[in-house]
Amino acid sequence: RAALRTLLDQWQPAALPSVAAEHPGYGADDLRVAQDGAQWVLHYQPKVDLRSGGLTGVEALVRWNHPLHGLVYPDRFIALAEECGAIDALTEWVMQAALEQLALWHRSGLRIQMAVNVSMQNLCAPDFAPRLGALVRHIGLSPQDLMLEVTESRVMAVSSAALETLVRLRMQRFGLSIDDFGTGHSSLAQLRDVPFTELKIDRGFVHDARGNQLIPPMLEGSIGMAQRLGLHTVAEGVETEDDWALLREIGCDIAQGYFIGRPMQSDRLPAWLEDWQTRQPRSTAR
Ligand code: C2E
Ligand code: MG
Ligand code: MG
Ligand code: MG
Repeated sequence: RAALRTLLDQWQPAALPSVAAEHPGYGADDLRVAQDGAQWVLHYQPKVDLRSGGLTGVEALVRWNHPLHGLVYPDRFIALAEECGAIDALTEWVMQAALEQLALWHRSGLRIQMAVNVSMQNLCAPDFAPRLGALVRHIGLSPQDLMLEVTESRVMAVSSAALETLVRLRMQRFGLSIDDFGTGHSSLAQLRDVPFTELKIDRGFVHDARGNQLIPPMLEGSIGMAQRLGLHTVAEGVETEDDWALLREIGCDIAQGYFIGRPMQSDRLPAWLEDWQTRQPRSTAR
């Protein structure tokens, strides 16, 4: 709590006017209230093995339970949080909540991995890796239980500070995923420079891939390349059984998307799992 307060005190009021103009409806003040009033909520989306259909992990996705606007999605406030300096406190809250939930699932016998999205800006904090290591140990988990999905920030590409943090995290044996591969800064250069362990293909190349004849070879090439680099491959945005079948044919390892399961509250996971076991594509049933 004390650390959180310190982070909040470090906000830069100078950034407020431009931020407010760019994000009508929300301002840094609203984010501060969200932080204080515990208005963050996590939903969890399953990641499943394309061969066995088994649940390998879940991705934590943050929502803002706004007293006036209802559930607000991250595309509406992550950039704002990055710009006004609230992203470090937000990520800290997400990490703590997601890891505590994972510890509960582990205790109930569900041995899955937790994926958390980390903004490039978080990685510039020089104490990010040691603090995360301490948090994971404090909760009684190990770094391998956590997959850090590195998402491109609107304000920066990989800086040398971020790169150093990523190398440290990898040395501590955290999983590192390059999220939204194929778009923006999620590029070959990042793949060359950062010791990623997972490549996550952007949903723009996944759903209805056969609808554009250029895409299946791009998918095949990316997945083949990742495998030769020793990375696990994940496809996000699997919305139909056709999407699933194509990825399976191509040899992608893990799938995530509405076809499998939407992001859900933690208490819904057991019921989802039961339902998924009855409806997963027959070719993968054991
Ligand atoms: P992402 O990490 O690429 O997450 C995938 C997004 O696609 C999620 O949106 C998810 O709900 C959505 N999605 C999943 N399956 C499907 C599908 O089959 N079809 C379609 N059309 N969409 C699908 P969401 O939850 O709105 O999150 C958007 C982005 O916000 C995330 O993209 C991530 O970059 C960012 N984000 C979410 N939570 C956090 C967080 O805790 N910290 C940070 N820094 N960023 C976060
Ligand atoms: Mg992600
Ligand atoms: Mg993604
Ligand atoms: Mg994406």
